[in-house]
Amino acid sequence: MTINLSVEQVFAWAASLTEQPDYQTLTHRFLDILLEIPGVKKAAAYEIYNRSRKKTGEAVTPCEQLVRRFPLDFTRDESNDHNDLINILDNESRVIPKISDANGRFRQAYLSIKETKGPDRAIALDGLFDRQTIELFRQLLSIFRNQVILHDSKERDVLTKLPNRQSFDTRLLQVCEHYLKHPVTDTSHQKSSWIALLDIDHFKRVNDDFGHLYGDEVLLIFSQLMEKCFRYNDFLFRFGGEEFVVILNLTDMEGAEHTFNRFRETVANHNFPTVGRITVSIGITHIDSMCMPTTLLDRADKALYYAKENGRNRAVIYENTDTLIKNADTNDDIELF
Ligand code: GH3
Ligand code: MG
Ligand code: MG
Repeated sequence: MTINLSVEQVFAWAASLTEQPDYQTLTHRFLDILLEIPGVKKAAAYEIYNRSRKKTGEAVTPCEQLVRRFPLDFTRDESNDHNDLINILDNESRVIPKISDANGRFRQAYLSIKETKGPDRAIALDGLFDRQTIELFRQLLSIFRNQVILHDSKERDVLTKLPNRQSFDTRLLQVCEHYLKHPVTDTSHQKSSWIALLDIDHFKRVNDDFGHLYGDEVLLIFSQLMEKCFRYNDFLFRFGGEEFVVILNLTDMEGAEHTFNRFRETVANHNFPTVGRITVSIGITHIDSMCMPTTLLDRADKALYYAKENGRNRAVIYENTDTLIKNADTNDDIELF
């Protein structure tokens, strides 16, 4: 099996990888390119969370790590479906060929990407690959990795490495589009999605009392608690400053309330280095398919305001608040953008 690639083909691949507008489309394009290579039968991408938290001498059990299949599909309720990746990958970005036959060909190959701002990534390939194909994977991987790093720096927050506000806008639109096609009417019994604004209480005091560096550390640990507490198919973002956003998926109202209260308690019980205790207020609303994204954010913001006004360290669901707040909903459904 010899691969005859023209120079035009190679440049066309490189050009199509570098023209993708974001990480999602880039990864889709990369998987398509891999599937065009003779011998490649299957290509699947994964994201691995929590690996980098392993410090020297500290054991991280596989269950503390999280393997997510790409693209992150919030409509599927299945968890870690590829935990074996954790044992296969090491600490380098490289191609790892597996299962060789008598002719020196491989049935599997793993392409791993490390040390980016985002999670570790891996691509699992099935098929029949000779040495030349493995070398081709290596070269394509180096272009792909450069592009991943570029997109991460645009789409992720520098401090917490969580997706940033810009990524949130794109993701919320995707989720809203899904619910336009599959509306949910009974939020108490049907599983659907919820959007929550999380705002650390009296954070200014943390900066004033301990300095910005400790403030930053609190934000970093807070983001790590988020990653630990929410599920693989929830979407987490740093919205800006000491505000974070969660899009919680596949949950009914009781589940959403329970989940956010559990997170709120986790934060309240956590001992932050030097700073000690902090609390968080949370405003939640249902992702209503009839509403514009701006209206949803406005509702979550109103619920957050209510939580702040009523003692902080609270999780409030907009739909459960009294009509007084809801009547302040002046711009419902008339936004244009
Ligand atoms: P509230 O309970 O009402 O939310 O009070 P608060 O003090 O948290 O709210 P406020 O919005 O008044 O202050 C937010 C503070 O967050 C002000 C700003 O100095 C701090 N902040 C925003 N971004 C960062 C950051 O990246 N690092 C640090 N250390 N502080 C930040
Ligand atoms: Mg704030
Ligand atoms: Mg605050």
